[in-house]
Amino acid sequence: MLRQKLIASLLALAVTPLLHAQNAASAAPDPAQVAELVTANHILAEMGLLDGYGHISVRDVHNPNRYLLAKAIPAATVTAADIRLYDLDSNPVTGTAAESFWERFIHGEIYKTRPDITAIVHSHAPEMVAFSVTGVKLRPVIHMAGFLPQQVRVYDNRTLFGETDLLITSTQKGHALGESLGSDPIVLLRGHGTVVVAAGLHVVVGRAYYMTVNARVEQQALALGGGGITGLTAEEAQKSATQDGFERTWTLWKSKLGEK
Ligand SMILES: [Zn+2]
Repeated sequence: MLRQKLIASLLALAVTPLLHAQNAASAAPDPAQVAELVTANHILAEMGLLDGYGHISVRDVHNPNRYLLAKAIPAATVTAADIRLYDLDSNPVTGTAAESFWERFIHGEIYKTRPDITAIVHSHAPEMVAFSVTGVKLRPVIHMAGFLPQQVRVYDNRTLFGETDLLITSTQKGHALGESLGSDPIVLLRGHGTVVVAAGLHVVVGRAYYMTVNARVEQQALALGGGGITGLTAEEAQKSATQDGFERTWTLWKSKLGEK
């Protein structure tokens, strides 16, 4: 018995420093994941979906309770040195709160409630915002946007928080937004922007692009008039999911960055 206790104590002594070393090592984001996130920032900036504002995050490949997000700078200027780690309450694990995006709570709260999601884009793309301030619903009208729900929901801070600056600047507001998103891939924020989510960085970039193409086509169709819009049915939308997870477009967009 004594011998067993002694062995257990020796094992504990041997393992404790290893655990500390492991924790210290995981306080730095994965370099390959950082590089991908930098590329995604630049692609979305090139598309005009992220300008001085808006952001993209990815769940930490080594720890599902953390996510990677750049500090609060324009997406076009993001480098590997600007990528920070956050816990799911959106407290910085690396870097400081002062240098962080005010709206980082969007990411933490959605990662908490959606274990299926590993990447999130928050954009202020104007063609999307138009659908958040009218009774006209954003819906899938092109085959590349079959991921859109039949009626994209609109989140409004006023429902729970009264008249605000419209931003998602707390865990409470982030949580309410996540509730509004539900199990959908996208939610509109009234007079503000869009949140789109996916189970992968390449997919979320593809969705961010094609949701805006869909929005433009839908607006053009509305302007043409002629008796309403023939959108994708639920079955067509489900069948038209991209076959390659937007890999072809990711390769194209990445190669265009390299040409500069
Ligand atoms: Zn915003």
